[in-house]
Amino acid sequence: MRDSDKLKRGTVVVVGVGYDGNSSFMQGPASAPSKIREVLHCGSANLCAENGIDLAEHPLFKDLGDIRTDEAVDVFNEIEDTVRMLVEKGLYVLTLGGDHSITFPLVRGYRHQHNRLNILHLDAHPDLYDEYDGNRNSNACPFARIMEEGLADRLVQIGIRTRNPHQAEQAERFGVEMMEMRNWNPKIGIDFNGPVYLSLDIDVLDPGFAPGVSHHEPGGLSPRDVLNIIHGLKVPIVGADIVELNPKRDPTGVSAMVAAKFLKEIAGKMIELNP
Ligand code: MN
Ligand code: MN
Repeated sequence: MRDSDKLKRGTVVVVGVGYDGNSSFMQGPASAPSKIREVLHCGSANLCAENGIDLAEHPLFKDLGDIRTDEAVDVFNEIEDTVRMLVEKGLYVLTLGGDHSITFPLVRGYRHQHNRLNILHLDAHPDLYDEYDGNRNSNACPFARIMEEGLADRLVQIGIRTRNPHQAEQAERFGVEMMEMRNWNPKIGIDFNGPVYLSLDIDVLDPGFAPGVSHHEPGGLSPRDVLNIIHGLKVPIVGADIVELNPKRDPTGVSAMVAAKFLKEIAGKMIELNP
C-alpha cells in the first residue's frame, strides 16, 4: 500500500482481501481477488466502463494489491487500519473479497472519515444474524455489527430472498430498509441524499448467471439489473466491495467475469460522480 502516497485525492484504488475464514458454509472466496484480476486482464475485453470512462492507464484508477491476511495479523484490524489510512488520503477504496464478513471492518475504516454514510447492500441474504453457528463475525452477521455500532445512517438492502423471522426482527430493530426480491421492480428508483458505500454480494444474482458463489439462491437479479442500479445512482459512491465470489464453483469462469465487469462499472461510476 506504500504506492498510495503518490496518488491524487479522488483516485479509486482496488485492494484485495483474500480471506474466507468467516464463511459459514464453504471455503473458496479467498482466491477471488486473484481470479477477478486474472479475467479482468485476460484480453477478452477492454477496460472501458459503459459510461465511457476507460480505466486503462486512467490517472484516477490504481490497483494497490492485497491486504495481508496471513496468520501473523488480526485480519479485521488489518483491514480497518489499511482502509482508514487510504480513506484519510482522500482515496476511494474498491475492495475485492473475500467472504462478506470483511464489510464490517471495511465500513469501520470508512466511518472515521465520513460522518454521513449510507450503505446500499445488494445480496440474496440480509446478513443480519446476531450470531451464526456461534460466530458473531460470520459472513451471515456483518450488517448486524455495522448497525449496532451506528456505522450507517441508512442501510438499504436489495435482492433479499431469504428473510426469516429472526432477520426480519433484526431489520425492524435496526431500521433496515429491506427491498425483497419478491417485490422487485426494475423501475424502482433508490434515492440517497448523501454519499453511498456499495456492498455487492455476487449471490444477489440469480445463480443461473453466476454459479460461482457458495450459497446458490435461485430467483435473483440479472447482471443488467445490477448495472442499472449502479449507473442509476446520483450520489457519489465513496467506497465499495465485491464479495463472495467462489472460484471453486465457477468452472467456466463466467462468474469471475461478471465480478470483473462489476469492478469496471463501479470504478467507472465512482470516477464519474466524484469530484
Ligand atoms: Mn452477503
Ligand atoms: Mn449472500
